[in-house]
Amino acid sequence: MDNVSVVSHEVCSGCGACASACPKNCISMVYDQEGFAFPSVDLQTCVECGLCLKKCPQKKADRAGNDPLASFVLQDKDEECLQRSTSGGAFVCIARHVLKLGGVVFGASYDDSLHVTHIAITELLDLPKLQGSKYVSSDLKDAYRRVKDFLKEGRYVLFSGTPCQVAGLKSFLGEDSDLLLTMDLVCHGTPSQKLFQKYIRWLGEKKNAPIKQFVFRSKKFFGWSLGGECSDGKKTYPVRALCDPYYAAFLRGETFRKSCYSCKFANMNRYGDFTVGDFWGFHEMTETMALDPKKGLSMLLVNSPKGLSLLKAIEKEANVVSMDLNTVSSGNWNLYHPSVFKAIRDVIYANIDLPFDELQKKYLCHEEPFMYYVRRLRRKLLPQKLRDALNKLRR
Ligand SMILES: Cc1cc2nc3c(=O)[nH]c(=O)nc-3n(C[C@H](O)[C@H](O)[C@H](O)COP(=O)(O)OP(=O)(O)OC[C@H]3O[C@@H](n4cnc5c(N)ncnc54)[C@H](O)[C@@H]3O)c2cc1C
Repeated sequence: MDNVSVVSHEVCSGCGACASACPKNCISMVYDQEGFAFPSVDLQTCVECGLCLKKCPQKKADRAGNDPLASFVLQDKDEECLQRSTSGGAFVCIARHVLKLGGVVFGASYDDSLHVTHIAITELLDLPKLQGSKYVSSDLKDAYRRVKDFLKEGRYVLFSGTPCQVAGLKSFLGEDSDLLLTMDLVCHGTPSQKLFQKYIRWLGEKKNAPIKQFVFRSKKFFGWSLGGECSDGKKTYPVRALCDPYYAAFLRGETFRKSCYSCKFANMNRYGDFTVGDFWGFHEMTETMALDPKKGLSMLLVNSPKGLSLLKAIEKEANVVSMDLNTVSSGNWNLYHPSVFKAIRDVIYANIDLPFDELQKKYLCHEEPFMYYVRRLRRKLLPQKLRDALNKLRR
């Protein structure tokens, strides 16, 4: 069969380049029982032109992106924007510039029911919608076709997303454009919207009011760290990453789409003009001491000459420190390898239709808040060397 049905569910990342490219519009993205989108081909309409297969980024040669040209640590000078950003605000600095040029920015946003969808914005006022990592598979809808339309109109476009989404866009468009900038994220992997929705409803039941806002990486309660916050519109609650069933399972890599575990984009060959992530190597930094790690630091890789010239244009708005690639990427495991498959992943998704309370008790283990505080106290009171020695003894 000369169509995308031959791409296995283990490999398909659900980017939808196939559906966007189909000249007969006979491919739709359909959610499976786990809650991940896969292409479904209407065989009555399909003429087997094979275009969907040609556009599938998984079918392209490996390492067809670029190796980084330069690497930096970045922190936005705009304190308000920085506070809303996951790390140091690399995304928002670049997005602001594109919007000021009259361009369009695509990124992941929550809708009113906390579904995550890629939207396009043209106003600076709308930037907060795109800021912040949503650790869930984003629905691209018709984003690729809209990018193409905006480019045809002569508008600048910034598209940000996971590496597979950026690779899908590039493959769909076929040729690069001077007007297009792309930004891929260092990506740990993406859980399904179905799992996230079940979790959000459960959280609302626990708080006795539906959850209206969810921020995975909030600096409000914990500074720049993995913690988040949620709100029912009246009250805001902290979300402790390791004590939270959804978040802890995400961090352990137990709830990702199947293809994430063999992701062909989890390496230093990048498809975006930029790659952004958290700069976890700040403990060893020397030159960047002028930047305040508590407020968040972005790791920024610039992977194309286009990216380098844009960086020059934003240098006044951000503190940008050049740093060698090894230091800047230290701690970013997913720049070198895909996340490791865990057998519990299949058990979780086989049981996804259980009430979330049961699902989390049985399969989404997380730390009890008491143990969390014991660990934090231990970290505060005991020097690193003593903690290392105790850990060795326990092993
Ligand atoms: C699923 C996921 C996994 C990640 N894993 C890692 C990791 O292992 N290591 C690491 O260093 N960084 C990881 N990141 C990136 C990190 O969380 C920050 O997004 C990054 O440091 C950029 O921060 P920022 O302050 O520049 O911008 P932010 O304010 O975080 O904005 C970043 C951009 O991410 C986009 N985005 C948010 N959620 C999604 C989504 N679900 N799908 C596609 N695009 C999205 C937004 O549209 C926005 O354009 C991950 C991000 C996501 C979404």
